[in-house]
Amino acid sequence: MTDSTGISTIEVDEDELRQRLSPEQFEITRRAGTERAFTGIYWDTKEPGIYKCAVCDLELFRSDTKFESGSGWPSFWEPISPDRVTLKVDRSLGMVRTEADCARCGSHLGHVFDDGPQPTGERFCMNSASLQLEPAED
Ligand code: FE
Repeated sequence: MTDSTGISTIEVDEDELRQRLSPEQFEITRRAGTERAFTGIYWDTKEPGIYKCAVCDLELFRSDTKFESGSGWPSFWEPISPDRVTLKVDRSLGMVRTEADCARCGSHLGHVFDDGPQPTGERFCMNSASLQLEPAED
């Protein structure tokens, strides 16, 4: 199935995924969990490369859009293209936030805030557990 953005969506077999992911990764990606700040593997990573969805490998963010937010989570000012990430309103925990999911497999990535740097002013605040860095070849 192809939605209006051009990204084909896929169904995820959660039984298979439980075997492949760590329990924390499963909870975050499939149950919209959040890793504790400063504990994920990518919050301080500066290595060049492409950050992919940990579940389906869709290329989501480029390292040259990653910035130091001070939040303890990997933060980007834009995705590779707007259609890579599905945004929706999240009213959990007594707050209204914008949730960001992988546009292909629907896995939870994190939240988006409007206090990011230029040129977009946005901060895609992601869980390391939802991402997998493919290092650039040099
Ligand atoms: Fe995905």
